[in-house]
Amino acid sequence: MSLEKAIARLNFESQVLEPGHVWLAGAGPGDPGLLTLDVLSALAQADALVHDALVAPEIVAVAEQAEKFFVGKRGGRLSIPQDDINALLVKLAREGRKVVRLKGGHPFVFGRGAEEALVLTRENIPWRALSGVTSAFGGLTSAGIPATVRGVNGAIILATGFAAVSDDRPDWAALARTGQPIVIYMGLTHMEETVAELLAGGLPADTPAALVENASLPQERTVTTTIGALVETAARENVVSPALIVVGGIVAMRAELMGAK
Ligand code: SAH
Repeated sequence: MSLEKAIARLNFESQVLEPGHVWLAGAGPGDPGLLTLDVLSALAQADALVHDALVAPEIVAVAEQAEKFFVGKRGGRLSIPQDDINALLVKLAREGRKVVRLKGGHPFVFGRGAEEALVLTRENIPWRALSGVTSAFGGLTSAGIPATVRGVNGAIILATGFAAVSDDRPDWAALARTGQPIVIYMGLTHMEETVAELLAGGLPADTPAALVENASLPQERTVTTTIGALVETAARENVVSPALIVVGGIVAMRAELMGAK
């Protein structure tokens, strides 16, 4: 059966993106196969698309009829201030545009989607959030690392490595004490500090760790090591953003699963 026929069989009926509404949508980690039908439909309906650097160009290109507003980092230059992005969404909605705000991964996972939604609510602009596959789950899967394994972990922690000293800065020592695997988003910049705190919190230095770069994209690369050797490995292998840091016993399953292939 063709893909078109399979989709037709679903009887999938998309909601209509009305003029003046904003849909906050997640594009997944990069692989177009990880787009949801809702997000694909959003891209087909948008006449204004506000997107980040993390969204793959092929996915942006689906919305060929939409005016594109790129609000991510370009060539290392500072990204557009969040207030300006909020103002842009409000302006486009007020102009009666059909707005899709497209983010990498899931819009409500470390993507500031909730902040944007709050602004829209305050401004009385109708909005809707469309789930995307967050890079932790899409990325672990494409790297061959299961998120949970019976007998290995009964929980999995998603953490940001980038939060400055603020309320949402994770207590790494407390996370280490759970003994559960941790997937760290935006972890490269402050990796040294994060690793030091995890070790100080009692995480054994030989705990398996992985760096998953460009997960789900053709240039995906996974480097496995231990938490004790993570900083040195990342430097030696020149791991670049976007990358996830995965720490815990689930990482060791990768070699076992690949061995079985
Ligand atoms: N909302 C996004 C996360 C945004 S924060 C989501 O749900 O995935 C940005 C961080 O996400 C990056 O620093 C990186 O840690 C991670 N990330 C996003 N896409 C990625 C990819 N394709 N490969 C590896 N990490 C990715």
